[in-house]
Amino acid sequence: MVLLCCNEIEIQMLLQITTTHQPATDLGYLLGKHPDRFQSKELSFGKAHVFYPEAQPDKCSVVLLLEMNPVLLSRQQHSRGKASYQLEHYVNDRPYVASSFLSTAISKVFGSALNGRCKDRPHLVSQALPLEVSLPTIVSKGGEGLIRKLFEPLGYELDIKGHPLDENFPQWGESPYFSVGLHHTISLQTLLNHLFVLMPVLDNSKHYFVNEMEIEKLQRNSSDWISGHPMASLIIRRYLKHKKSYARQFVKGLEKPEVEGEENPAAPSKEELLETSMNLHQTRLQRVCELLKASGAKSALDLGCGGGKLLKLLVSERQFDKIVGMDVSFKSLEVASRRLYLKDASPAKRERIQLIQGALTYRDDRLAGFDAAALVEVIEHLDPYRLEAFEKVVFQHARPAILVLTTPNREYNALFEGLTEGKFRHSDHRFEWTRAEFEQWANATAERHNYKVRFEGVGPVDATHGSPSQLAVFERKA
Ligand code: SAH
Repeated sequence: MVLLCCNEIEIQMLLQITTTHQPATDLGYLLGKHPDRFQSKELSFGKAHVFYPEAQPDKCSVVLLLEMNPVLLSRQQHSRGKASYQLEHYVNDRPYVASSFLSTAISKVFGSALNGRCKDRPHLVSQALPLEVSLPTIVSKGGEGLIRKLFEPLGYELDIKGHPLDENFPQWGESPYFSVGLHHTISLQTLLNHLFVLMPVLDNSKHYFVNEMEIEKLQRNSSDWISGHPMASLIIRRYLKHKKSYARQFVKGLEKPEVEGEENPAAPSKEELLETSMNLHQTRLQRVCELLKASGAKSALDLGCGGGKLLKLLVSERQFDKIVGMDVSFKSLEVASRRLYLKDASPAKRERIQLIQGALTYRDDRLAGFDAAALVEVIEHLDPYRLEAFEKVVFQHARPAILVLTTPNREYNALFEGLTEGKFRHSDHRFEWTRAEFEQWANATAERHNYKVRFEGVGPVDATHGSPSQLAVFERKA
């Protein structure tokens, strides 16, 4: 930690980011800041400096150092109508801790990286890189527990060191200050998005007036990850400074723009229309149900159950005594509930079939302990950079004995009339895999989590392009 004091100006090293991606100096391109130069920028509360203590091909670190000016800070307080001449305006923790000042500095100094722009190496923007962050002093109104609850669901590994209020007086207890190390393999943009939002959330304070612009800022920096984050409501509340109308506006904006089949999840999607002629979806669901049944499973999960078509098939099999459907979309769960007549169901039926809302990219203890799980046409709806989190949730934590997963075979798209070349079958698909790509992902995932895996096609087979849909059966080895 660097801490210098010179009269009124006090300096604290606030943020260091290190990568071992090769060549590590790509960090300079991503940030738009040359590793050989020391750069400074004037901000409303002082100065931000950027420099690289290390810039080697195998390891590169950048530091964002804020030089806060207590006089400027106190003037800002006065201009916002706060009572003047209070000692607190001059003597406070603001210059020392990573807080909303750090978020402002990130947006002013690393703005292009935060917004996913990189002129010289555009392909790096979405690339997951091994990144380590050091935050020597952060304040957490919620202790170590809150730091973990905010970052761990996003896949970070954390080193946290708490600091006592006064080392000479241990009886005074712990302070709200922590030194934190974060480790993740993630794109730099996503990392900056997380820090930008979560620093002021931890601190539960902002140094500037919060207006409607904050809603848009929160949307821009969290739309990929906030839905389904177990602490979403605290994050939204604190980020928007407890302004309820802003929080409501934000949550409304989270509902995805309308895509086919989504406004009315019961209506057929473009994908279903394309596949209708071969009755592909029904064939797929039948096959998945057959495989789960043949495994001898008594309890089954349908992950990303949508409107509940597979659940309907499972319910008619008496072999299953516990069936849980999970989806991130509340609207789809409502459709599933209607399809399964759950509203007026007997207590025994309600006990046997349950619908839960949740996201497959966040660890969820409700998914543990099941014999079988299905993931039908879901994986291609996830952003590729979330696949690692998804893999942990499903194969490491839920860990069913058998798991059947289906996804489109992109090679077959060439045979669909009415599908423009290069387009996906559904506008919400984030990718569609060829057979080789799917098998590569599935084999590596099975290997990492001690499962064996086999593959089959679903639907009519074409000699060149294979079947329209592909299916993998994962079986837990031990
Ligand atoms: N399995 C169903 C629905 C497939 S459509 C069927 O075959 O009929 C994909 C479904 O995945 C949608 O209902 C969507 O809401 C859900 N989904 C997408 N991302 C998700 C996530 N991260 N967590 C849980 N469900 C998700």
